[in-house]
Parts: sequence; C-alpha cells; structure tokens
Amino acid sequence: MSADLQFSVEPNTQPASDDQRAQILANPGFGQYFSDHMAIATWTAEKGWHDARITAFGPLELSPATSVFHYAQTIFEGMKAYRHPDDSIHLFRPEANAIRFQRSAHRLALPELPTEAFLDSLHKLVEIDRAWVPGGGETSLYLRPFMFGSDPFLGVRPSAQVTYCAIASPAGSYFANGVKPVRIWLSEEYTRAAPGGTGAAKTGGNYASSLLAQAEAIEQGCDQVAFLDAVEKKWVEELGGMNLYFVLDDNSVVTPELSGTILEGVTRDSILKLVTDLGYTVTERKISVDEWREGAASGKVKEVFACGTAAVVTPVASLKWKDGETQIGDGNGGPVTAAVRTALLDVQYGRAADPHGWMTRIS
Ligand SMILES: *Cc1c(COP(=O)(O)O)cnc(C)c1O
Repeated sequence: MSADLQFSVEPNTQPASDDQRAQILANPGFGQYFSDHMAIATWTAEKGWHDARITAFGPLELSPATSVFHYAQTIFEGMKAYRHPDDSIHLFRPEANAIRFQRSAHRLALPELPTEAFLDSLHKLVEIDRAWVPGGGETSLYLRPFMFGSDPFLGVRPSAQVTYCAIASPAGSYFANGVKPVRIWLSEEYTRAAPGGTGAAKTGGNYASSLLAQAEAIEQGCDQVAFLDAVEKKWVEELGGMNLYFVLDDNSVVTPELSGTILEGVTRDSILKLVTDLGYTVTERKISVDEWREGAASGKVKEVFACGTAAVVTPVASLKWKDGETQIGDGNGGPVTAAVRTALLDVQYGRAADPHGWMTRIS
C-alpha cells in the first residue's frame, strides 16, 4: 500500500475569510498562524501507511499515554513554499527533505514515508492553501512535516502506531528591517550531540537538549548558541538549528565536515555548490574553536555566517565565551556572506536562473 500512498482531499468547510487571511498575511511573523488545511496519515505495523488525507487544520485528540509524550519518538522537517513574480508557487529541493526525513525516521525507529507520498502531501497542501503563500519581500509559506509515535502505550519500544502530519504557516521576512548580524555564545558546558547519538537526525530531542544552552546565550546578551563536539570539546559543530560557514583571509570558504553529530542542512549543502559557482574554493573539514577565536582576532577569519531554511544566511557579528569575546571583521558581515545570501534568495524567489534544478513548481 505504502508505495502508492495518495492523499485524498477533504476541503475545510469553515476556512478563514478573505479578510481574516489578508489581515494575517499583512504581518504573519513566524510560526504563529496556520493555513486552513493540514496533511495527515497513519501507519500501523499491520497496515503500513494508510488513511492519508488533506483535511481541515485543527487539534489532534491524543491519549495522555501516547508514546511521543513520554519517549520523544518524533522527527520533523522545515521547508518553504515561495511565490515567484509570475505568481507560480515553488519548493526548494523538496526531495532532499524527503530523503532526510527518511534518514531521521530510520534513526528514531520510525517507519519511512516514501518520497512520493511526502511530496504528494506537500503539493496538495500547498495547492489547496495557495492563497496562504504570502508574496513580496522574503516572505514564504513555511511547511512543517512531522511524524511521531502515536501508540497509546507506555511500554518502551518503537511505537506500533505512527502519525504523519504536515502543517503550513505563513512567514514574514525573517529580517524585517534589514539583515541583522547575530552574536554567538559558545556553550562550553552543554553539548548538543554525541557520537552514536541522534545529532544527524532532525528530532525534537536535540532541540529540547539545546534550550538551556540557548537560554544561557540570551542571558549573556547573545542571540544563538554554538556547540562543540561532545568528546574533545574542541571542534565547532553547529548552532542549535543552523550550520556554520567560515570565510578565511585567502578567500577560501570552510564549513565543519559532517561528523555524524551535525545535522546535514539542505541550505549547507546548497551553499557548497553556490560558493563554488561564485568562484571560491570550499572545503569541508574540522574547525577548532581556537582557529575561530584566534582567526577572528588576527583577521585570518574574515567572515562567519550561519545558514538554514528559516533565516537563510545570517552574518555572525561576534563569538562570546566565559572569559572573553571577539568580533568577526567589523561585526557587520562581509561581501562573501552577502553574495551567498543574495545568490540563494535569487534562486528561491525566481529572480535568477536555477542552474542546479533546485526549484520544483507545485502550483
Ligand atoms: C534543520 C536544521 C539545520 C538547517 O537545515 P536546513 O535544511 O538548511 O534548514 C541545521 N541544524 C539543525 C540542528 C537543524 O535542525
């Protein structure tokens, strides 16, 4: 059954009015408002994937014994639907998210959702809610596919029932008043992911364990937290939800190599190709926190930027740790960061050619 799983469409009989929707789209913020529909499907050990529907967005009714509440067997994805100047709607590399969702599922002992079913759910959701895709600026319809163990059972084992769901949330420009460089707090106490753990899977537990360090970052007057490897506490891994890139004084670009404990961002992977297109050499290798600190002080590290679907490409202004702080460049980003950001956004918003075939028109 699973291989040709198709989502049937049950339109919401009480959608938001045009006025209500227009009011939301005028200032959507991030993750606060949701479109009229959602995708949902069920997996059981006996029947595989079944009962796949696009239906009215609304609450789920779950037993307090539902396994995800207790054992965190859950994964998610984050992607965006972009409105192009001709009003067509596009996704960016959705197959990459489908495949990562399968990798995450495998690690969390969840059933894999076939790529075609994942794409079918998002195509149909965005099609029926296409009026919810904002236009103008760097706005988008943020898509959040997720999956969780929905068995009402307290025994510890992979859930025998699993729910897949995808919801859509209009998103305003991440930086409404121009790109704002972020200050980074170095977490020396807490780590995000250990070898053999779940760091390479997009799972809620990685976020739950990052929140205390993130709160520490805010207390320190910073915006985001950077994590080091859990073994030597020496190698730069990533932020709580974004990957990192460094631009050196010989104009080479480096990013931490995939170690099994870093989440492989679709943005990270795309930037590997974009910086090459822009004429820079790019290397994936280990970067120590001392190389970052000393390089920022000496000028060898000229720019640092963070990347991910939500904020795209964000310049890093400074790195702070318990005994000090160092600014990167003049603290306002730099030309390579700006060029990468523009190149990526131009492809995503249909303002530039798409030589790598990254965009998929869905409506
Ligand atoms: C989702 C995520 C990223 C960025 O991935 P993209 O596919 O580029 O959005 C980076 N790090 C972590 C921990 C993430 O969860």
